[in-house]
Amino acid sequence: MQIPPIETTRIQPLNHKHSRDGKYVLYWMQQSQRAEHNPALEYAIAEANRIRLPVLVVFGLSQTYPEANLRHFTFMLQGLQETKTSLADRKILLAVQKGTPPEVAIQAARGAALLVCDRGYLRHQKRWREQVADAVDCQVIQVEGEVLVPTHVVSSKQEHAARTIRPKIHRHLPRYLLDCPSGEPRLSSLDMNMESLGLSDLNKVLKDLRTDRDILPVDRFFKGGTRRAKKIFADFTANRLERYPENRNQPQTDDVSHMGMFLHFGQISPVWLALTVYRLDSPLSEPQEVFLEELIVRRELAVNFVEHTPDYDRYSCIPAWAARTLDEHRDDPRPCFTPEELEAAETHDPYWNAAMKEMKASGYMHNYMRMYWGKKILEWSREPKEGFALALRLNNRYFLDGRDPNSYAGVAWIFGVHDRGWPQRPAFGKVRSMTAKGLERKCDIKGYVDKVEALCQRDRSRADILNVD
Ligand SMILES: Cc1cc2nc3c(=O)[nH]c(=O)nc-3n(C[C@H](O)[C@H](O)[C@H](O)COP(=O)(O)OP(=O)(O)OC[C@H]3O[C@@H](n4cnc5c(N)ncnc54)[C@H](O)[C@@H]3O)c2cc1C
Repeated sequence: MQIPPIETTRIQPLNHKHSRDGKYVLYWMQQSQRAEHNPALEYAIAEANRIRLPVLVVFGLSQTYPEANLRHFTFMLQGLQETKTSLADRKILLAVQKGTPPEVAIQAARGAALLVCDRGYLRHQKRWREQVADAVDCQVIQVEGEVLVPTHVVSSKQEHAARTIRPKIHRHLPRYLLDCPSGEPRLSSLDMNMESLGLSDLNKVLKDLRTDRDILPVDRFFKGGTRRAKKIFADFTANRLERYPENRNQPQTDDVSHMGMFLHFGQISPVWLALTVYRLDSPLSEPQEVFLEELIVRRELAVNFVEHTPDYDRYSCIPAWAARTLDEHRDDPRPCFTPEELEAAETHDPYWNAAMKEMKASGYMHNYMRMYWGKKILEWSREPKEGFALALRLNNRYFLDGRDPNSYAGVAWIFGVHDRGWPQRPAFGKVRSMTAKGLERKCDIKGYVDKVEALCQRDRSRADILNVD
C-alpha cells in the first residue's frame, strides 16, 4: 500500500532560521513519546535522509515538571524505555537527559543541521518551544501529531461546545485520517557519543529522581508503553467496544478503552486509534461512531479550549452566565467539606468516596464518575472558586492522564464550560447538577462501590479485568 507523505498543514516552522551544516537532524521528542505513527519522527527521518545525515532523538527529563510525581514518572519512563529500544531497532539513538526540556534541546541543537519538535498545547509547552526556536541557530520545525485535525485548521477561536466544533472537524477528517509513513533512516545514530540516562534499570532512575514521592506508582493496574496500549486497545475493540454506547455511562463496568493515559504521554497515536476503529466495519456501527465522537470531537474540543483560553487553569475561564449563577447561590445551605476531608475520601456519600478511592489507588476513574466526582466538589466547597482549584489539583495529582488538555476542559465543564444552562438547583444555580439519587436510578452504583472495594483490597488487578498480563 502506498502511504502518502505527512499532511503539510501538520508542519510549521517556528523560526525563520535556515537549516545549516551539522552532524545530525535532531528530533527533540517531548509530547509524542513513541517510535511509531509519529509524524514528527518521520519528518525528521525524511529530512535526514534527504541531506544524508543520521537522526538523533533527545528527551528532556525535567525533575521540576509542573505537578509531576512518582506515579507519573514511573508510567512515563516505562514508555520511554520501550521507545528507546524500538528506536534502536530503527538505528536511531534516543538520549534521555536530565534537565528542563528547553535546556536539553538547546544543548543538543549545537551539532544539529535542523531541529524538529512535536507539539503540546499547555502554556509551559508552548513557552518551551518558543524559547528553543529563539535560542538555537538552526531552523526549528514543529510537526503536530497529537490530534486528528491540526488545531489551526479546525478553528481560530474558542469553540462553545461539541456541537459547534463537530462540523468543523468532520469537514476535514478525510484529509487527515491517513496512515503515518514509516521511513528507514539511511544512516545510523546508534554509535553517536551522547550522554544519556540508562533506562535498563528503571528502579535506579526512579530512585535518583527528585520528585514528589507521596503519590505511589500504580503499575499493579497500568504500565506505560506503546505495546501495552495496543494490547489493551485490541482487547477493547474485540470484546468491549460493542457495549461502549450503553456502558460508557455505567461505571460498574470496564467497557471503556483506558487509552487516556497513553494518549496523554503520547505513547499511542490518536490517528492510529481512530483509523483502527474506522477499519473495523463499514458503514460505521453505533459503537464505532460513539467511540470516535469521544476520541476525536470531545478530545479535540479540549485541545481547542486550552489553545484559545489563556486562563484555562483558573476559575476566571468559566462563562459569565455560570459565574453569575454560582455567585447567586454561594450561600445556599449544603454540606461543606474541607480539602483534607475530600482528599481523604471522608464524606457522607459512599459513591463519591469510592470514586476518590479509585482515583487514589489506581490513577484512573470511569468518565461517568469523574463527572459526579467533580460536580460534588463544586457543591461541597465553601466557594466555587476554591472548588475549581481543588478539583484541578486532585485531578492532576492522582490521574495518570492528569495535566492534559482534557483535565482542564473536564474540570471547567463541571463549572459550565461547553455546557448550557439547566433548571435552577441549590448550590449549582443554572449549572448542571448531579445527584446520588440520579446515580442510583441510572446505573448499578452499588456494583461500582463493590468494584472499587475489590480494587483497593488487591483482590483484582486492572490487568485481570482487561485480559492483559
Ligand atoms: C471532571 C473531569 C475530569 C477529567 N479529567 C481528565 C483528565 O485529567 N485527563 C483526561 O484525559 N480526561 C479527563 N476527563 C475526560 C474523560 O473522563 C476521560 O478522558 C476518560 O474517562 C478517559 O478514560 P478512557 O480512555 O477509558 O475513555 P474512553 O471512554 O475509552 O474514551 C476514549 C478517549 O476519548 C477521549 N474522551 C473520552 N471522554 C472524553 C471527554 N469527556 N472529554 C474529552 N475527551 C474524552 C479521551 O481521550 C479518551 O481516552 C475528565 C472529565 C471530567 C468530567
